[in-house]
Amino acid sequence: MSYSIAIDGPAGAGKSTIAKTIAKKLNFIYVDTGAMYRAMGLYFLRQGVTDESVMEERCKEAAITIKYKDGEQQVILNGENVNSLIRREEVGKMASVVAKLKAVRYQLVELQRELAETADVIMDGRDIGTYVLPDAQIKIYLTASSRVRANRRYLELREKGMPCDLDQIEADIIARDEQDMNREFAPLRQADDAILVDSSEMSKDDVVEKVISIYNNISKVGNTCGN
Ligand code: C5P
Repeated sequence: MSYSIAIDGPAGAGKSTIAKTIAKKLNFIYVDTGAMYRAMGLYFLRQGVTDESVMEERCKEAAITIKYKDGEQQVILNGENVNSLIRREEVGKMASVVAKLKAVRYQLVELQRELAETADVIMDGRDIGTYVLPDAQIKIYLTASSRVRANRRYLELREKGMPCDLDQIEADIIARDEQDMNREFAPLRQADDAILVDSSEMSKDDVVEKVISIYNNISKVGNTCGN
């Protein structure tokens, strides 16, 4: 049976950085589910569709798959590798809009579950522990205060030489959290059996170490029970 680690949490909590590092250490596949919603968002941005009922009807037109190149996940939208196009803020906002729609979620969750069936995965998103992989062996809910998350994003953008405003970034983060936590279907919330990790005062290495120690402890207990 394949092994699954679910990492959920709000925007900018550092899920992908942590998950990528752990995937390398444990030799698991990293699955970034946000990238799939972003690809769907990009599809409708390009189509100029803003009506949510039209999106529900037409989401099957967007064939989304993933492949791996040099260990990095690549998202393919109707045959085109869109990895370099989906990180823009407007795509992130649109991802959060399409992510409310049941038809979109059904389509992408099917792909996510298929991936978890065939390999050991560490998968990050908003509903992995609560909905996509309710039987994941490890569930982490990774969060940090909105100010800390905004500040990390601000420093990243500044390093890339991109103009940005800390208060605006924080306002965008709070708006996205609100949308993700309050949608009707598969909202962002901590699963009852997830371990809460608040990284507000932790470095990346601290968080990685904590998750690896959780993995080691749970695996040990699992092996003992199996013997
Ligand atoms: O994690 P990322 O910022 O790339 O995700 C973009 C958006 O996709 C999120 O704000 C959320 O609305 C949506 N999403 C989701 N469920 C997931 C992953 C992402 O609803 N499992």
